[in-house]
Amino acid sequence: MTPGPLTTTETVKSAMMSDWCTWDKDYNEGIVEVIRRELVSLATSRPEEYTAVLMQGSGTFCVEATLGSVVRPDDHLLVAANGAYGKRMGTIAEYYKLNCHVMRFEETEAVDPKAIDEYLTAHPEVTHVSVVHCETTTGVLNPLAEIAAVVKRHGKVLIVDAMSSFGGVPVDMAALGIDFMISSANKCIQGVPGFGFIIARRSLLEQCKGVARSLSLDIYDQWDTMEKGHGKWRFTSPTHVVRAFMQALTELKEEGGLPTTVHGHPIRPYTGQTTRPTQTFIYIILTRRR
Ligand SMILES: *Cc1c(COP(=O)(O)O)cnc(C)c1O
Repeated sequence: MTPGPLTTTETVKSAMMSDWCTWDKDYNEGIVEVIRRELVSLATSRPEEYTAVLMQGSGTFCVEATLGSVVRPDDHLLVAANGAYGKRMGTIAEYYKLNCHVMRFEETEAVDPKAIDEYLTAHPEVTHVSVVHCETTTGVLNPLAEIAAVVKRHGKVLIVDAMSSFGGVPVDMAALGIDFMISSANKCIQGVPGFGFIIARRSLLEQCKGVARSLSLDIYDQWDTMEKGHGKWRFTSPTHVVRAFMQALTELKEEGGLPTTVHGHPIRPYTGQTTRPTQTFIYIILTRRR
């Protein structure tokens, strides 16, 4: 129905037919660094303010890595959840024993920015807000611009799970004020599964040293190693998957980059006014690579 692991092109698959070494310059500088730069330029109009960190594992690993490396013991996280993936962020927060407030919305409704506004007014202790952009299970596209405006008006850090929208729906992190945005190789970009990535506001990520409660999922340390080592991962990286992802990014560009319309209709957040919230996403999948 929506972007899961799905079909990949022959050219993406055949990009995996060589071997690379996690230590080599042609891999680190020729592939990893290129990908990191491209991800930032896809995510924001102000690339100098953002940076990308790649992380082994599936998308959930990256959501967990972000929450666990960014939210400190004294912070308070508000999770706005209108579906399975929003709830999962709440579960991660429980595992990490974060101070967490979960605001539940109906699965057939979008997250309501007004409700978040009221919650933040009543709970000034909240420091971070996290939300899913597209709730993949229902296809509901949350009104990210309106949510971000509220969160920024209250001066909170905004974390977005854009797993199934990044590469499919244009988002300008700098324009909206998004601080951390998470996605993975095998959804809209149409690479193969095996790693995910976090695009982060550089000034905030720089302050996250020592916050992580997990060694493998420490996004600060992973990022620091990539910065200093020019694309070096801390532990063995999924080299073939990463190479295939670079090919998928090239093909996205060749197809004209991010779509702003689908069959001539602008992509809009779900307002509850149509009867088929999943329509937009079905179309994106059908439109690309067929
Ligand atoms: C797919 C998805 C995830 C989880 O990704 P996995 O790769 O299955 O771990 C998280 N959030 C959203 C919105 C997703 O679509």
